Amino acid sequence: MSRNRKQSIRRLVVVLGDQLSTRLASFQGFDKKRDRVCMAEVSEESEYAWSSKQRTAFFFAAMRHFREELLADGYDVSYQEIGDRKGTGGLKEALDHSLKQLDLEEVVMVEPGEYRLAKDFEEVCASHGVSPSVREDNSFFCSRERFESHAEGRKQLRMEYFYREMRREHGVLMDGDRPAGGKWNFDASNRESFGKEGPERLRARLRFEPDELTRKAIADVESRFGDHPGSLDLFSWPVTRSQALEALTEFIEHELPLFGRFQDAMWSGEPFLHHSLLSGAMNVRLLDPGEVVAAAEKAYRDGSAPIEAVEGFVRQVLGWREYVRGIYWKFMPGYLERNALRAEEDLPAFYWTAETEMRCLSETIGQTLKYGYAHHIQRLMITGLFALLYGVRPQDVHKWYLAVYIDAVEWVELPNTLGMSQFADRGVMASKPYVASGKYIQRMSNYCSSCRYRPDKRSGDDACPFTVLYWDFLTRHQKTLSDNARMGMQLRNVKRLSDGEKDEIAKTTKELRRRISNGIGV
Ligand code: FAD
Ligand code: SF4
Repeated sequence: MSRNRKQSIRRLVVVLGDQLSTRLASFQGFDKKRDRVCMAEVSEESEYAWSSKQRTAFFFAAMRHFREELLADGYDVSYQEIGDRKGTGGLKEALDHSLKQLDLEEVVMVEPGEYRLAKDFEEVCASHGVSPSVREDNSFFCSRERFESHAEGRKQLRMEYFYREMRREHGVLMDGDRPAGGKWNFDASNRESFGKEGPERLRARLRFEPDELTRKAIADVESRFGDHPGSLDLFSWPVTRSQALEALTEFIEHELPLFGRFQDAMWSGEPFLHHSLLSGAMNVRLLDPGEVVAAAEKAYRDGSAPIEAVEGFVRQVLGWREYVRGIYWKFMPGYLERNALRAEEDLPAFYWTAETEMRCLSETIGQTLKYGYAHHIQRLMITGLFALLYGVRPQDVHKWYLAVYIDAVEWVELPNTLGMSQFADRGVMASKPYVASGKYIQRMSNYCSSCRYRPDKRSGDDACPFTVLYWDFLTRHQKTLSDNARMGMQLRNVKRLSDGEKDEIAKTTKELRRRISNGIGV
């Protein structure tokens, strides 16, 4: 074959780093004799948000294992490892390079989990005169079209109504047409803290020691992205389907029974508690949400987990996870630019180092950099809350969340960050901003007992920065939030502050802001 002659194949199936499953629609009708899978590791995906080493290593390791499984199963795979080809920046260039060398009938893919990539692919294919066949993602309970029909005619979208529809439609936790356990929602039983003694019955979680392929991926990340945040010393995420299934079984058997009660609780030195740690595996498709939900429901039906725990868990996967995806596609691309509270501060430097005397933040950011993991309440009510109260630009907060968690993919990260946590969408995701003072963190954790600050103080040197900024936030946004009925009580409390108290809070806030913006320790 001459150097310039193009190779003929029928179909190129593009598989992105979060599409690691032959159960996906892109593989339907795949002919091993005539079709080829195309995968690429590219630096741009780790650089446009400053991706942590844990996150990049998780993706590379899972992708390489998937490649090996495909090859062993007789698939023809073209795979570009990081650094294989000079000048390769993004996925767009990688696809362009492949298309230049091929004479083909069609390019097939499942819709990407990010708006930006969907546009890029359309453009590259058009430049080669091929129209991509973009197939609907069949790994979710709710299609984009189905979400549109749910949203149609509603003035306001709320997760609860969507979730009930999904339960009915998919027959999940239903006894006939009644919700199992007699109620749709067991949230009220799922907000316990651990009390003074701390969590009991915590087991060491399953670790997946890196095999040779993962060790090579880790080494490549160290050599290519050595200056990126975080460390890889404790990398032990499941990176194959069989490991992910083991992790699912471990969670259902040992942690699910206690998942609900302590869902919102936090404890120093205990990053995982009773959480499932399955978001990464689900997001790269090593696990299907359908099988995860079915395993949880089975535990309830078998009597091995109580309804409060199982409903609480199902609500996250069948409810929140599907709902945020619907929101993402419904409101993109404009959603990314929203900044309803006009927040303009830079992200404090300690988000990348965990170097702060605020114990709750040093714990949460510390474990984030170490494992690429923090659980929901840590993301929402520690790192997210501080950014919201301090007034960080939502787009910068978004870039941080996209960078540091191994489960971060834009369709799920963005609505959680911009909407739920920063209220930048002015109430599309959440009916009110999730704002609280340090006293909430004191109630839900033991962080405050070893912190130099005092959660009950709102002014002075030892005042908790969360508490100080909480009052500052309410004062600053009094007018903007005055039409939100759910903020009524909090805003009335601001009005009760005396002028003297307001001055003290303003003085402490000013000093706090001066220190943070100048990188002086807080
Ligand atoms: P568990 O506590 O065991 O929950 C079970 C599963 O439910 C999770 O694995 C996840 O798939 C799903 N889930 C729970 N809450 C949510 C939610 N709010 N939205 C979507 N799915 C949910 N989740 C991601 O998967 N990727 C992200 O990039 C991401 N970014 C977030 C950013 C912020 C600011 C916030 C507040 C939340 C974010 N979440 C994200 C949601 C949630 O925090 C994580 O899914 C969860 O902490 C993952 O840990 P786990 O698997 O142990 O979850
Ligand atoms: Fe966090 Fe404030 Fe508690 Fe310290 S006192 S741990 S800063 S909430």
